[in-house]
Amino acid sequence: MAESPNPMHRLWSERRWLKLALAHGCYWHRCTFCDTCLDTIARFDPADAKTVVGWMEAAMAQTGERSFHFVDEAAPPALLAAVARRILDRGLEVEWWTNIRFERHFTPALADLLARSGCLAVTGGLECATDRLLALLRKGFDLAQATRVMAAFARAGVLVHAYLMYGYPTQTAQETVDALELVRQLFAASFLDSAYWHRFALTVHSPAFRAADQLGIRILETPPTAFARNEVPFGEPGGEDPAPFAAGLRRAVYNFMHGEGLRADVRSWFEFPVPRPKLARGFVRAPQITSATATAKARTSASAAGLGSQPRIRCRVSMLVWNGSSFNTTP
Ligand code: SF4
Repeated sequence: MAESPNPMHRLWSERRWLKLALAHGCYWHRCTFCDTCLDTIARFDPADAKTVVGWMEAAMAQTGERSFHFVDEAAPPALLAAVARRILDRGLEVEWWTNIRFERHFTPALADLLARSGCLAVTGGLECATDRLLALLRKGFDLAQATRVMAAFARAGVLVHAYLMYGYPTQTAQETVDALELVRQLFAASFLDSAYWHRFALTVHSPAFRAADQLGIRILETPPTAFARNEVPFGEPGGEDPAPFAAGLRRAVYNFMHGEGLRADVRSWFEFPVPRPKLARGFVRAPQITSATATAKARTSASAAGLGSQPRIRCRVSMLVWNGSSFNTTP
């Protein structure tokens, strides 16, 4: 990741980001694959905008830095809007990025406001990327909605990263190929700048674990561990083995992130026969990014990279810890 020329992908490993959380927990806390039984997700306790911007100003005064990563599991849109307005009211010149849900409150107007306040990039879970599976996962949005949000951020000049998932119980080969076709279209439309496929992992703190019977999966014996029991192995009798898809999915997205293979039939990324995608080739429409949008994106990319166009190998992460009266930075 540190060597990637993709500006969105480089955010994790380059530059110095001051880490702040807008809220404890997730305001949605319903996704079936997530650890929603844990306090860290289930108990939603947001700060207010005045407090958050006060933290930012204190951190800037103490460190001289002005780049922030809001590390929320899912930043609440109303709070982000309030923080953005306060940043603008206070005249702060900052840059920031965060994780969001691709949900309906992220309108074009909100995306514009966030961009004006310094938002460089957003990340979010598109997960299995078919409508049936988004509903089963209880993500609270469908593909059309997620596409609208990504388009809104793209038009505001904000970079977008998607977390993708494969191997959820009941997922078919057809659905996996359809998900890849959607991802191809999103990259081709410049609504998506980077993405990564994760294989579904079943954890004991997730609703999916408790709904194992309904999902038709069988929990297997957990190997002994000296630490904690979190992820558990499972079998899906009669289900499709997701393992063979891993290489093709990753190869495709790696190329898409570098602008390659965006017109190719997505079946060509796999070394074995897979179904023809059923998703309409024009599902993601209106990809005409205006020249103003393209300029804004280019500016954001340069700012996000912040280090010139050549990839560099560097990893420097600082944590800013609030001790009740001031911030301490870790080296
Ligand atoms: S996956 Fe993200 S949005 Fe869903 S409950 Fe977990 S933290 Fe919230």
